[in-house]
Amino acid sequence: MSKTIISVNDLVKNYGHFQAVKGISFEVKEGEIFGLLGPNGAGKSTTLEIIETLRPKTSGVVSVDGLCLDKQPHEIKKIIGVQLQTSGYYPGLNLLQLIELFSGLYNQDVDPMELLDMVNLREKAKSKVKELSGGQKQRFSVATTLINQPRIIFLDEPTTGLDPQARRSLWELVKQIRDKGTTVIITTHYMDEAEYLCDRVAIIDSGKIIAMDAPDKLIDELIATGFERPKEMKMANLEDVFIKLTGHSLREG
Ligand code: ADP
Ligand code: MG
Repeated sequence: MSKTIISVNDLVKNYGHFQAVKGISFEVKEGEIFGLLGPNGAGKSTTLEIIETLRPKTSGVVSVDGLCLDKQPHEIKKIIGVQLQTSGYYPGLNLLQLIELFSGLYNQDVDPMELLDMVNLREKAKSKVKELSGGQKQRFSVATTLINQPRIIFLDEPTTGLDPQARRSLWELVKQIRDKGTTVIITTHYMDEAEYLCDRVAIIDSGKIIAMDAPDKLIDELIATGFERPKEMKMANLEDVFIKLTGHSLREG
């Protein structure tokens, strides 16, 4: 088993009298894609933002690559990559200029074109963020998480609102990043996405973790209880039809 890179112990977050995160504990292993799954309001973003040092916790113990969240938040910031809201980017700059700006801020020597190539945006180097499609914006925002060459990246619902082709393209990008050795924590409420992408998942509901394991193991456990799908599944679904008809390639001009 590979080593633990994030450990969260009995994490609690109160917003006034409301308890959004109710004492959760989990570990993320180095080099895995770890999914936090749950419906809206479950506490996924709150949990991520606490680990990212962007939001104060109420109680609990968090460590990231051996660094203590309470004592070494600045060291933690240096080894993680966080997706920024694309609306927050300087509107007057193009993608190339934005990457140059960020690499300067992070004091990193990054080849902007190489990074844009990785996320399939070389042709858009001279475009502004507002000129990109939804999928391109998401790929660009994933690219910006990589600028400081982080050990871990955090992706909060990166595929929400994307069409099937753009989702698949983002999945491949996330796998590629993991395959290069970066640990990924991702939140989603799409179960097909989690099943395809995640090595392990924690299912979180109303601030509590109610299951945690590899997707396959969780499915096998459910089957072992005698659960069967009510209807026999066909060998394909409507998404397969859609992809077959419209192709795998991106439609974003
Ligand atoms: P998720 O990302 O799983 O949708 P969040 O972590 O954003 O959930 O929110 C968890 C709960 O905490 C929700 O009920 C939400 O309304 C509440 N919440 C989130 N942020 C705040 C805040 N700044 N102040 C008060 N309540 C908040
Ligand atoms: Mg959220």
